[in-house]
Amino acid sequence: MKTVANFDRIGEENAFAVLARATALAAQGRDIVNLGIGQPDFATPPHIAEAAVKAIHDGHHGYTPATGILPLREAIAADILRRFRAEVSPEHVMVVPGGKVTMFAAILMFGEPGAEILYPDPGFPIYRSMIEYTGATPVPVPIREENGFAFSAEETLGLITPRTRLLIVNSPANPTGGVTPKAEIDRLVAGLADHPEVAILSDEIYASMTYDDEAHTSLLGYPEIRDRLILLDGASKSYAMTGWRLGWSVWPQPLYDRARKLAVNSFSCVNAPTQWAGIAALTGPQDAVGAMVAAFDRRRALVVEGLNRLPGVSCIVPKGAFYAFPNVAGTGWKAKPLAAALLEQAGVATIGGPDFGIHGEGYIRVSYANSEENIARALDRMGDFLSEARAA
Ligand code: PLP
Repeated sequence: MKTVANFDRIGEENAFAVLARATALAAQGRDIVNLGIGQPDFATPPHIAEAAVKAIHDGHHGYTPATGILPLREAIAADILRRFRAEVSPEHVMVVPGGKVTMFAAILMFGEPGAEILYPDPGFPIYRSMIEYTGATPVPVPIREENGFAFSAEETLGLITPRTRLLIVNSPANPTGGVTPKAEIDRLVAGLADHPEVAILSDEIYASMTYDDEAHTSLLGYPEIRDRLILLDGASKSYAMTGWRLGWSVWPQPLYDRARKLAVNSFSCVNAPTQWAGIAALTGPQDAVGAMVAAFDRRRALVVEGLNRLPGVSCIVPKGAFYAFPNVAGTGWKAKPLAAALLEQAGVATIGGPDFGIHGEGYIRVSYANSEENIARALDRMGDFLSEARAA
């Protein structure tokens, strides 16, 4: 059977492979601490789950408009106004099954042979995978430790060519936990004035997770780029709803109808009870979000302190999301073999930095979406492993 050539280039997310391996080892009776996972270890707040149950009982089980039900789009617009102080019409909001779907649609819209798309490296692996799928040229924007894992406006702007169609930015960032400060975003937006043909996809799925009073700066706050900005957000991380598949995007008017047609041609709509749960999430009490972020903040301190005690490891303090991205070059290991050995021999799942791009070599991603107790156990095991490996 012959499928189209594009499929030879599509990639995937190694975090799922690590999760599968960790689960298989656990099924064999091994005690595995999973710091590879990219999802909150908290339950979806009960009032959100209840809203979905109620929606089923109330008969919300049919198709909805492809763009999502109006009360949810209104709740999203109100939330954007509250959190980012940006006015957005519900007519520009699209409800999609997970954050990924927005990047899928945006990259499909701008990627084709001859086009260039800029994306963060290390960064979420699906950016590159989808760019490759479309036949466009992926142009990595290096995300550097010496820059606190923020993106550099100057370096980003310097990579734009007449072929650049789309620029993808992500802050707070996966896998580094980096948060790009407002001043740097100001510089990027100012420089983009010279490139009015470049569209921007801003992945802000971790917007609710910043620490040390580091405020999140949404690109929606810049009116001068609103006519070419696509915002990616969703409930997966902020409301511990990864399995519900609820994301949303804001599109500039000319792209909105294209996004709607993609929905009509693929998923039709997000399942109705999930949309009602989304309304409860956005309009209900937000204390569960605050409690979750406070727990992540405590774990962040534990992780960073513990990682910096390990031989050959150094870790800067991440300002957002729930990942640390320690530099492991001093261990003498390449990152991927180290991550594999930590899983197989020490029973700790992490992800090798190169799974997030070539600039991830020398680093591993440590997710602190796990209990303080498990984090402490994992750090002990990593310490023992690295000390023994060094002595051997
Ligand atoms: N964007 C980033 C940066 C992510 O880390 C993730 C998930 O890990 C997503 C988007 C996708 O989120 P979702 O699970 O809602 O599709």
